[in-house]
Amino acid sequence: MRAVCWMGKQSIEVHTVPDPAILNPSDAIIRITRTAICGSDLHLYDGYIPTMESGDILGHEFMGVVEEVGSGVKKLKRGDRVVVPFTIACGNCFFCKSHLYSACDNSNPNAHIAEAAYGYSGSALYGYSHMMGGYAGGQAQFARVPFADVGPIKIENDLPDEKILFLSDIYPTGYMAAENANIQPGDTVAVWGAGPVGLFAAASAYMLGAGKVISIDRFPERLKLAEACGAFALDYSEPDLNVIEALKDLTGGNGPDSCIDAVGMEAHGETTGVYDKVKQALMMETDRPTALREVIQAVRKGGTVSIPGVYGGVLDKVNFGAAFGKGIIMKMGQTHMQRYLRPLLDRVEQGQIDPSFLITHRVGIEEVPAAYKTFRDKAEQCVKVVIDPWRLAA
Ligand SMILES: [Zn+2]
Ligand SMILES: [Zn+2]
Repeated sequence: MRAVCWMGKQSIEVHTVPDPAILNPSDAIIRITRTAICGSDLHLYDGYIPTMESGDILGHEFMGVVEEVGSGVKKLKRGDRVVVPFTIACGNCFFCKSHLYSACDNSNPNAHIAEAAYGYSGSALYGYSHMMGGYAGGQAQFARVPFADVGPIKIENDLPDEKILFLSDIYPTGYMAAENANIQPGDTVAVWGAGPVGLFAAASAYMLGAGKVISIDRFPERLKLAEACGAFALDYSEPDLNVIEALKDLTGGNGPDSCIDAVGMEAHGETTGVYDKVKQALMMETDRPTALREVIQAVRKGGTVSIPGVYGGVLDKVNFGAAFGKGIIMKMGQTHMQRYLRPLLDRVEQGQIDPSFLITHRVGIEEVPAAYKTFRDKAEQCVKVVIDPWRLAA
């Protein structure tokens, strides 16, 4: 099959590799019909995630048709149409039984590597380094899906793939971010980042009863999409604009009830950007937490900070004293995908949301290396790239 392979920092190539095969009785093989590039794939692209190996297959947002199932799979059969969540969960451990699927203790065979590096391991992820399980990703024509009765859900409507695909990650991730923001009816919610997760967080905040959502970004095309979700757009690159002051002005001086950091560790900071870049280069700091610093500063006293943006390690100059002094609530973490697939699919089927609204680029698999660059550079007003792995040429 053809597959998108990580060959090194900023080096992505499409190769012909062996088709995946059933290894365990609980596996399924999925023939992938649509897949996508995620913002978090850019952390791999830019070389921020350790334990990637040359030739690793990328991608964790995919859907398709069941090609083959192992002898232990009960819920799926050949021919079923499914969407696959990006976190791999066993369904049986303490964490899975507590519905904390992204903390699954059984799915990562390389948990010891993550534990040595970080002191803990979360669930395994598709296409996201050996430390996170070493599973081949879904930017390919086929993928092996372990614990196939636990992760994928069957799609029994005839909605197009593009309306279903984002159940694999960004739609539940944005939704859980809004849920974690503890939104009360009529609340004001500010969302840092109008990328895919930020946009789904903005749309979900309204679904959960927000009165006003403010989206903060600097790219006009992203702010336009946020406005299409009903959000008030705040362009932080406007000269003389101070985000914290602007948010105070919009909230009667208090600050937003909830702030969502949908940016994460690769923020483009203006004030402390050089400081963080130097420290990151010297390995004295792993992340650039500009957005996190701002959300803590901006949120009203007693408000909630929700963090779907990915952080990798140790942060510097985060004002924990302000977080304490203001008595804020913080919720964060990798999405517990399996909780959300069914209820969020219901919302799509009921027409409450069309998740395809943010797709800007549709490419065949051979064009994926170029698409990574376009997406990373935010060139051509790129917001979300969807891949047809069977379309070989442009
Ligand atoms: Zn993703
Ligand atoms: Zn588990």
